Amino acid sequence: MADTVLVTGASGFVGAAVARKALARGFKVKVLMRPTASRANVEGLDVEIAPGDMRDAVSMAAALKGARYLFHVAADYRLWARDPSEIARNNLEGARATMAGALNAGVERVVRVSEEYRILGRHRDDSRPSHFDYQGLRFGQDTLYVFAGLCAVDTPEHVEQMCRALRDHGQVCTRMGAYKPRTNPYSFQGHGRACLNYVFEIAGRYGIKVIAMEITHESHVQEIRQALRETGSKTGVMLQIGTRNTQNFELLKAVGRQQEFPVLLKRGFGITLDESLNAAEYLASEGNSKVVFGLRGMKTNMGDPHRNFVDFAHVPSVKRLTRMPVCADPSHSVGSRTRAPDGILDVMHVTAQAVTAGANMVLVDFHPDPPKALVDGPQALLLAELPHFLADVAIAREAYLQRQKLAASQRAQG
Ligand code: PEP
Ligand code: MN
Repeated sequence: MADTVLVTGASGFVGAAVARKALARGFKVKVLMRPTASRANVEGLDVEIAPGDMRDAVSMAAALKGARYLFHVAADYRLWARDPSEIARNNLEGARATMAGALNAGVERVVRVSEEYRILGRHRDDSRPSHFDYQGLRFGQDTLYVFAGLCAVDTPEHVEQMCRALRDHGQVCTRMGAYKPRTNPYSFQGHGRACLNYVFEIAGRYGIKVIAMEITHESHVQEIRQALRETGSKTGVMLQIGTRNTQNFELLKAVGRQQEFPVLLKRGFGITLDESLNAAEYLASEGNSKVVFGLRGMKTNMGDPHRNFVDFAHVPSVKRLTRMPVCADPSHSVGSRTRAPDGILDVMHVTAQAVTAGANMVLVDFHPDPPKALVDGPQALLLAELPHFLADVAIAREAYLQRQKLAASQRAQG
């Protein structure tokens, strides 16, 4: 007979997700619910509802009867209450009564679910991996790939020139925008489905293994899947969710439900880091935890003269808070080809800042003929600048590895 799991807090989004997972793994699931709690999140699930309250020992004991495992998800997470002691009472007394009940009932194992970014986060004693594999490449918090390419695909000739330059310089990843979210409805919107076959065919021919490609609607996933199939699956795609869609929760859920393609989620340009990390968690909560988190600058005139306020100081913060590899997009951060008096382009300066801080992926705009680019020409680097860019990245990467070694030796001594 299947083991029984009791879940508290199943009226909430996380508790209901835990209940769904437990059902999927073949457990018999009971959920403790206050009679007044909404049942919408467990609607249609094959769970037994045990009416009660975590602070009430009698209903708790009844709910725990026969349970082998307990997932304690319930919590009072209000930020404000007229009587704040209520929050403490719910969380402390509730947890205490729940644990005492579990002990009395002989529950074998209790899992208390309380931390932020539950799947993608880095928790205490967490030994889960901070990498995933795709197309034979390992994307992790200790690897680095450059995704240089076209902001927007315009012609097959430009795609080919780009891919040839990448191959000639040992690169196996690129960026190619087909679906472009544009501020102005009359601006070029990207070639969409129409360019996918030639993009995949050309990329495959030049040994490109992964293409970062933004999607703005869930139907684009199917279009990409179909085009890959039609061209013999010679390359792979990392689905990019752009800064304008960071909190498009229905898109996140749809993309999270597929596990074929990894996802690059860009940070929202006008929301907190915490809000963007929670957006990434949406993908994982639906089943896809192959997620790279992308920093791309924040929209504020405090960042002038750059297009966005460069936020690469958050590279180590994201690595500390979560297990996601971190990407930096210097092109959309800086937004131009300005050059400092030291002769180094601002795009290269900020790339070095990100890589020296441990970034795992660099998404950067190049174009064979920037004046002819249909989107973001002013920020594109030239193909002739590719070897310079890659050599500069290599210097920064070496600096990062040395900094890491230095820190390890200092800690060993201290
Ligand atoms: C892009 O990478 O082409 C893009 C539109 O980026 P963002 O969503 O960061 O603006
Ligand atoms: Mn762009």
